[in-house]
Amino acid sequence: MQFIYLDNNATTQIDPRVLSTMLPFLKENFANPSSTHYFGTTVLEAIISARTQVADLIGADNKEIIFTSNATEAINIALKGVAENYSEKGKHIITVSTEHKAVLDTCKNLETKGYEVTYLPVQKSGLIDLDELKKSLRSDTILVSVMYVNNETGVIQPIKEIASLAHEIGALFMTDATQATGKIPINVDDIGIDLLSLSGHKMYASKGIGALYIRKGINLSAYTHGGGHENGLRSGTLNVPSIVALGKACEVAEQEMKQDAERIISLRNELECELLKIPDTFVNGSTENRIYNVSNICFKGCDASVMIGRMRNVAVSNGSACTSAVIEPSHVLAAMGLSNDNAFTSLRFSLGKFNTEAEIKTAIKTISELTKMMLGYA
Ligand code: PLP
Repeated sequence: MQFIYLDNNATTQIDPRVLSTMLPFLKENFANPSSTHYFGTTVLEAIISARTQVADLIGADNKEIIFTSNATEAINIALKGVAENYSEKGKHIITVSTEHKAVLDTCKNLETKGYEVTYLPVQKSGLIDLDELKKSLRSDTILVSVMYVNNETGVIQPIKEIASLAHEIGALFMTDATQATGKIPINVDDIGIDLLSLSGHKMYASKGIGALYIRKGINLSAYTHGGGHENGLRSGTLNVPSIVALGKACEVAEQEMKQDAERIISLRNELECELLKIPDTFVNGSTENRIYNVSNICFKGCDASVMIGRMRNVAVSNGSACTSAVIEPSHVLAAMGLSNDNAFTSLRFSLGKFNTEAEIKTAIKTISELTKMMLGYA
């Protein structure tokens, strides 16, 4: 059976070129990059060049990049680091209700430590209202954190405008760009980004690696203490194979992003256009301000978790989370005003560069037949 993977926002298959770049660092190049002997310095050179590859992808300097174990850790380092180091200026943070849990739960943790967090609502489109943001900004706001691309809907927030509003009152601007890096061109200076998180396994590198961009001049407090690695912010021996993998993935993305995007958008459009022919279907979120690889579709009357379970050849996802045996609707779709019924019947399709036209055709057929059966008109 052909296995069709349309869940690339959850994780991606490693690019074979990335894999072959990292393998020597799991075998013969195993030395610690902190060691001063020849073997160590060879590995250190690979780390420096990976740091430059990551920096180049987002228009940063390599001194502004620290490696982390994933995007979640990068987000924790950024939010907690700003909170602690800028608390004399203020203790107010602004974020958005549709952020990934890595941001939302870190903010909740900060609330228990005396910080005040404003969770901006979103419109039906999934976009924030800039006037709401303007009203929420205060003299004691130290940080505005808004994700670049939403993982469930693909909605792209107007982050350049958001960054500029944050800067007008002297706050820092952080963006969780986990679903944007490697997919769309990003230049931290053009946009005005002060802090940015990214993740290797969302962009065809290995799992267990992420990075945080920290604009020169911004001081964060240390996240882990020890040998002073990563500018003293995250001590601990570096995950060399995965760092090299992330560097290579960034290099490949920079070179091939445009052509991948053109191919993926046409596959996504074909999939979406055909699936929307199924009665009572609609796309969740803005279709204008949306990344090219995602389609979040509501199939009214068809339980999404049942659909996922029944499809043996197509991997997609739904946003609902199972928390202490209670199934809750996706917090993203709920924030956009979807009813529980519509949220529970919504599926996220997230395409990647390894998907083919033949796979999309099979996925369309599988889903169309399944919904017919579930709606009782097969
Ligand atoms: N932010 C967004 C938007 C994500 O989609 C994810 C993962 O799904 C994360 C953060 C967390 O990434 P990681 O698995 O690297 O911790």
